[in-house]
Amino acid sequence: MRGAKHIVIVGGGITGLTTTYYLQEAIKQKQLPYKVTLIEATDKLGGKIETYRKKGFTIERGPDSFLIRKEAGARLVQHVGLEEQLVKNDTGKAFVLVGNQLNEMPNGAFMGIPTQLSPFLKSNMFSFAGKLRMLGDFFLPKKEPKADQSVGEFFRYHLGDELLENLIEPLLSGIYAGNIDKLSLMATFPQFYNMEQSHRSLIKGARQTIGDRWKQTTKKTSKFYSLKHGLQSLVEQIEKHFDPSIVQVMSSTKVKQIEKEETNYHLLLDNGEVQAAHSLALTTSVSQAKCMFNQFDFWDDFGEIKATSVANIAMAFDRGAIPQDIDGTGFVVSRNSDYRITACTWTHKKWPETTPENKALLRCYVGRPGDEEVVQLSDEEIASIAINDLKKIMGITDQPEFYVVTRWEKAMPQYEVGHLQRLDQLSRAMAEQLPGVFVAGNSYKGIGIPDCISQGEQAMEDILRYLQC
Ligand SMILES: Cc1cc2nc3c(=O)[nH]c(=O)nc-3n(C[C@H](O)[C@H](O)[C@H](O)COP(=O)(O)OP(=O)(O)OC[C@H]3O[C@@H](n4cnc5c(N)ncnc54)[C@H](O)[C@@H]3O)c2cc1C
Repeated sequence: MRGAKHIVIVGGGITGLTTTYYLQEAIKQKQLPYKVTLIEATDKLGGKIETYRKKGFTIERGPDSFLIRKEAGARLVQHVGLEEQLVKNDTGKAFVLVGNQLNEMPNGAFMGIPTQLSPFLKSNMFSFAGKLRMLGDFFLPKKEPKADQSVGEFFRYHLGDELLENLIEPLLSGIYAGNIDKLSLMATFPQFYNMEQSHRSLIKGARQTIGDRWKQTTKKTSKFYSLKHGLQSLVEQIEKHFDPSIVQVMSSTKVKQIEKEETNYHLLLDNGEVQAAHSLALTTSVSQAKCMFNQFDFWDDFGEIKATSVANIAMAFDRGAIPQDIDGTGFVVSRNSDYRITACTWTHKKWPETTPENKALLRCYVGRPGDEEVVQLSDEEIASIAINDLKKIMGITDQPEFYVVTRWEKAMPQYEVGHLQRLDQLSRAMAEQLPGVFVAGNSYKGIGIPDCISQGEQAMEDILRYLQC
């Protein structure tokens, strides 16, 4: 048996938790002489995942769900024995606010791409010219292959500005809170590029991809999972599984600097301690990773990954306070509408288990490129913005019973055009100059929870492979 090895995971968000948990399982199973330390700067684990429970409401301050389609999420939930708590979203209608009008999302919208024409042609969301331009997708010449381009450039070419601004942009903003004209297509939706390259027309490609489902107008299926008592229960459950003989958790401890030594790394902590590690995973934002290794120039070549600040406000009401109780799960706001909120989830309808009977829970989002200063406003000011907007849109005049504002500063990393090429350069530089150090998390290969979990799984495999060489 080789000598004992120490692995350090920096960052206790879902990526770091996943890496630590799966490492522990592998160490147990293969009886490896390894110890793991998970170091988290704040006093709680979970990072962006945070559930607030009050008066029978389950309020998510960060993510509220994860995609079913990406299996790493449910796999982790099952591993830690929480599968019985998985719940799926209710699939009511979704709306888009264009101008002052809530419009039902046209049937057959596949991330905003029309797979059925008639609901789009009948929709009031688009002008006659906008509809004609959308149909232009069938006749456009094939585009030459391209290493990368912005999401905006790609969709504007195929479907026109109006469809992009009224539908696709608000839908994608809900995920990336970014500038669609800078966002990298290949780092976010490479499948759309592949559709274009194989079918020329994006509409035809989308139809082909989803198969015969585009012909059906029947009930939608749930696409998201959450957990009965909130996503934080996953964090709590992982924590419960940590075996202190293998895993040590150091919370309220920040890694300030990391020095490369001959055969290992020395991590300088903000409590003055130094930890030695044979291998490590950095699961923080890239800007934090840069700070820890600021003596290495290659981080500068990777460039600055910008991150947008966002905030959200969850508001609890009596059901009776909502005069126009629309049959649906929420709405997104189109770029050209004169509102400051960017979206609103009718949480009591989308996730009924979060809300006591006869109550309503609405969650509004603010903050987007060009309006990030809203995040700096006081709780009262953010509440007043949301309540005023909801009054105009849904006729709500009552004040909420209570509200909870959450700010996430520089929290949504922006994968700008060329992201994947830069990532590739970074990986090569790290393998050369920092062997045994791996990066994972939402700055790199996907921001959704399952993407972060997959990256955590990968980091665990990379570390084991490195140590066993
Ligand atoms: C408001 C909001 C809503 C979202 N909604 C969804 C959704 O519905 N579905 C979905 O799939 N995704 C959603 N996301 C995205 C998803 O939540 C995140 O991408 C994911 O949780 C990030 O996990 P992570 O572990 O990579 O990073 P983080 O959660 O950011 O964790 C990184 C951790 O590193 C710690 N850290 C930083 N620096 C140091 C240091 N020097 N030393 C030690 N520790 C350090 C931080 O304190 C933090 O705990 C949402 C994000 C936000 C902000």
